Amino acid sequence: MRRALSLMLALRSLNHHQGRPEPMTTNKQLTARREKAIPRGVSNLHNIFVSKSSNAELWDVEGNRYVDLAAGIAVLNVGHRHPKVLEAVREQLEQFTHTCFQVTPYEPYLRLAERLNELAPGNTPKKTIFLTTGAEAIENAVKIARFHTRRTGVVSFSGAFHGRTMMGMALTGKVAPYKAGFGPLPADVYHIPYPIAYHGKTPEQSLRALDALFRSDIEPSRIAALVIEPVQGEGGFYAAPPDFLRSLRDICSEQGILLIADEVQTGFARTGRMFAVEHAGIEADLITVAKSLGGGFPISGVIGKADIMDSVPPGGLGATYGGPPVGCAAGLAVLDIIEEEKLCERATIIGERIKSWGLNLQRETSCVGEVRATGAMSAIELVEDGDAERPDAEMTRAVISGAIDRGVILLSCGARGNVIRFLPPLTISDKLLGEALGVVGDVVLGLAGSVRKAG
Ligand code: PMP
Repeated sequence: MRRALSLMLALRSLNHHQGRPEPMTTNKQLTARREKAIPRGVSNLHNIFVSKSSNAELWDVEGNRYVDLAAGIAVLNVGHRHPKVLEAVREQLEQFTHTCFQVTPYEPYLRLAERLNELAPGNTPKKTIFLTTGAEAIENAVKIARFHTRRTGVVSFSGAFHGRTMMGMALTGKVAPYKAGFGPLPADVYHIPYPIAYHGKTPEQSLRALDALFRSDIEPSRIAALVIEPVQGEGGFYAAPPDFLRSLRDICSEQGILLIADEVQTGFARTGRMFAVEHAGIEADLITVAKSLGGGFPISGVIGKADIMDSVPPGGLGATYGGPPVGCAAGLAVLDIIEEEKLCERATIIGERIKSWGLNLQRETSCVGEVRATGAMSAIELVEDGDAERPDAEMTRAVISGAIDRGVILLSCGARGNVIRFLPPLTISDKLLGEALGVVGDVVLGLAGSVRKAG
């Protein structure tokens, strides 16, 4: 009897603990639950909860529809739920979902590596390892570079973003919110300025800073790698001039330093080429890839010159989920789609369209300081009174929130928080892109007008 009673009480308490809250359907209710359940360190740009998506559109739980110009931070170059990606994933799900490549390998990993080895710029034979996240790709690239060169130093750029792991943070060139309070970070990491014409930072200044680094901080013979985003992503969508990348290539070759191109955000047709380094015609020693490779499924990788990739002995590299079967299947479909739908060409057209829209906007308001586009990696930089030295982060936040209220999802970036970046899926229709840009233009002009009036 006592046992039956305690069992009943135990069951009741179990039910109580397992009982899920009533399903909630408004963004406000879900936000309240989110605040209780999830730490604030992982922030949300928008308090809308997604219920479904298709190509360049998504819908929230209240049925509101949005044009997505963020694409999950540059992940969906082929759009949300591309039918070919879904088909490839479904087929893979029917076969097997996980074995761990290090235990029992599988062909999709191999095929994807073969395809990327062929696609990577330059004639040197390549090999590829797969991981899961962009940060993990960076970690592995640095491990490989250090092992190969038997050197320890790594050089990156101010304003850079390379991920949130320890080495990712160390390489990242922005303290708050990415690095502050998380140290000590790995040692032997050095930053030099990234050339940004709009801010008066020339490639010559960056090269002089590298030279000064060699003379005042660390001898080049101790530097394993120089890591660069060919177009800075989180840093503000600034493109490194092709000549500058070629100079870096030469310096690295002369000094035995490996050049690592972080193409996590720039890769897979975003800039109008499969890889952004193609604009400079250089061959990197190692390329990190992630984001759009998986078309919405996690997968990342390091593609590199075969002899460098092979320097690490068996067991030195790997990860339980590295190159997951579903990610590989999705990646193969993504490469097909980029080719079949000519997404490199499409990226160039989209970028030109955004650029001419931005230049028109700039003629109408002094708050658009600069309009930039490398392929479809495009942005406007917002400043006060056309003055590059007066970044307007407040206006940037206002534009983003004004746009979401009118059904357009935007992202900001930039060390000074005053850049609006455009990352539409490359599969977006002209009509939808026009609609979204129309909304953003109205929001910018509305805010600029109210600022003018208030002033
Ligand atoms: N490198 C670059 C250039 C990136 O843009 C990012 C992500 N924004 C990363 C690395 C890190 O990727 P992940 O968030 O997948 O770790």
